[in-house]
Amino acid sequence: MNSLVATSRNFRQAARLLGLDAKLEKSLLIPFREIKVECTIPMDDGSLASFVGFRVQHDNARGPMKGGIRYHPEVDLDEVNALAQLMTWKTAVADIPYGGAKGGIGCAPGELTKSELERLTRVFTQKIHDLIGIHTDVPAPDMGTNAQTMAWILDEYSKFHGHSPAVVTGKPIDLGGSLGRDAATGRGVVFATEALLAEYGKSISGLTFVIQGFGNVGSWAAQLVHERGGKVVAIGDASGALRNPNGIDIPAIIKHKGAGGVLKDFKGADAMDANELLVHECDVLMPCALGGVLNRENAPDVKAKYIIEAANHPTDPDADEILSKKGVVILPDIYANAGGVTVSYFEWVQNIQGFMWEEEKVNNELQKYMRSAFKNIKGMCRTHDCSLRMGAFTLGVNRVARATLLRGWEA
Ligand code: GLU
Repeated sequence: MNSLVATSRNFRQAARLLGLDAKLEKSLLIPFREIKVECTIPMDDGSLASFVGFRVQHDNARGPMKGGIRYHPEVDLDEVNALAQLMTWKTAVADIPYGGAKGGIGCAPGELTKSELERLTRVFTQKIHDLIGIHTDVPAPDMGTNAQTMAWILDEYSKFHGHSPAVVTGKPIDLGGSLGRDAATGRGVVFATEALLAEYGKSISGLTFVIQGFGNVGSWAAQLVHERGGKVVAIGDASGALRNPNGIDIPAIIKHKGAGGVLKDFKGADAMDANELLVHECDVLMPCALGGVLNRENAPDVKAKYIIEAANHPTDPDADEILSKKGVVILPDIYANAGGVTVSYFEWVQNIQGFMWEEEKVNNELQKYMRSAFKNIKGMCRTHDCSLRMGAFTLGVNRVARATLLRGWEA
């Protein structure tokens, strides 16, 4: 199912549970602004290449719009729209004073050189600089982008508007980035998992985990699960998948990748069919990569008891229904992966205050926000007798709806 259709369906279901007025429902669904720009750059060999860049600003009732910029071949307007909408509900669930946005460029970043990526990022920034800003829309990294990408955006933006570190988050520490931001999404995933497991009298220690995706989110989640005594029995990324029933040595695999190695060439585990990863035997499954990976075809075979949506919309609505009927507990994306944007908020606050927090403070505050959001989601689940996904959606949508009504519509 198209990701925008799926996301909007979840929103509508939440709107019905909340009894939202139809006009308000419609206004919350339509994005505030959709930007689509042509980005043509000279390649290193002297030829020209054209790419399409997007920024969708979904809603700003609760504050400046906030969300990552993704570089991936599958980036298109519908996908960016769905992700922008998810950011609106995510920032509201996390209770940070932001709206939602998302951007992206349809490209394969792995096939571009560093200088080509820099030119592409600068051209994209030139096209959108008037529409982003510290109090309007604050980009951050996402799939295929990183702190270096943010440094280029900051530099290009500052040529037009003067030095403005708070215009992007997820920056390098040397340019005003926050300690703990790099690990934040993975750390938030682990805090969220702990909050969920505690409901069942369990903890990470002694449970088995399967982690799909070994980029920024997956590798940090794996490392922190490992540190807490969880056994990662299978992992995979675009290069392939590996399993070891005794638990994979995560620090060793991170070292292997850090030395330029490819995940599938790691020697301490057996190669497995990447299609089997999501249906591998485990207690907890963490999809940490692309959307839509759990669908009608593989959902009936999932063995995990808990699914932690570290990726955005990894479970399509058909799979959601199948898994819920099987009794699988799903911790939804708009809560599970909110740690990244929460620490982005801390970074923005530090930039505005001109004061740097210690990493321990960042991590402690993140834990507080994740625990509090979980408690509030459970409260909504009790009020509306609904799943954790609907608990999170009703929590987020209700907060945005309240802010919208308070602002009013008079022209
Ligand atoms: N790209 C991340 C997300 O999807 C982080 C966004 C941000 O920090 O603004 O939540």
